[in-house]
Amino acid sequence: MNIMTFDELVDLCKKNNKKIYELSQESEAAEADTSVEVIRERVKEHIDTMQSTIKTGMTSSEKAISNWCGDDCEKLQVRYAHHRALFGKLFEKIITYSLATIEENLRMGKVVACPTAGSCGIVPAVLIAVAEDYNYDIDTQINALITAGTIGAVISNKVQLAGAVAGCQAECGVAAAMCAGALTQMLGGDISQILNATALAMKNLLGLTCDPVCGLVEVPCIKRNPILAIHAVTASELALAGIESKIPLDEVIDAVRQTGQLMSPMLKESSLAGLATTKTALKLKEKIFG
Ligand code: SF4
Repeated sequence: MNIMTFDELVDLCKKNNKKIYELSQESEAAEADTSVEVIRERVKEHIDTMQSTIKTGMTSSEKAISNWCGDDCEKLQVRYAHHRALFGKLFEKIITYSLATIEENLRMGKVVACPTAGSCGIVPAVLIAVAEDYNYDIDTQINALITAGTIGAVISNKVQLAGAVAGCQAECGVAAAMCAGALTQMLGGDISQILNATALAMKNLLGLTCDPVCGLVEVPCIKRNPILAIHAVTASELALAGIESKIPLDEVIDAVRQTGQLMSPMLKESSLAGLATTKTALKLKEKIFG
């Protein structure tokens, strides 16, 4: 989709009296020389994959390369077998689905990168859990996922979605922003609320470092997914109440790009600083790689 900024996206939606997902699916169909129905069917396939990844992830506790991670989703489910989650069933589902998905990623299972594999447990966890709880039909889910993809695509015009380029703000941060916007679409928000939710989620993750322990997408990546899934829900709730980001979304994205440029390369996936060089991380590295 050839839309460079969110201001442009708003103008086009207003001019054509269309929602973000409508504009996006029509533009994708025209570019691919196919129909809107075909595009929506492809998006549905991604939703099917998200659902099956959650199912598989919830039944596995197989450890990953480090032998350090992989059983957190199981631990969470054991807790919820005996305790009610503090914020209820939906909260429980979101963080369980998130861990199930990201743990499948570390086992090299099939995931939908949204926008990246290291941040794959944010958008699916929230959208699938909310759709189940509110009985949203598949069309509502497709509309939300297309909205998420559109938000990610517009952000990627200014910020490369890679921890090595702009830190984790460009991976888990953007995933939370996409998720907040998509959830707001799913819950019936208008375009202003969708973009405010996106801005609120994004601006509170500015400067998030990428400092993976042993260079593996495990620590801190795994727990970052469920925690930021809830962050996205909070941003959506605020926006649906009419609370606005005082800094417009396009300017927030400019700030993400500038922050990424100013961040030390030592904090951008090189594992040369931050959590990756803590005493415990270095000991683990020695154990795994010798
Ligand atoms: S910390 Fe780095 S490797 Fe892990 S999810 Fe974030 S950007 Fe990806």
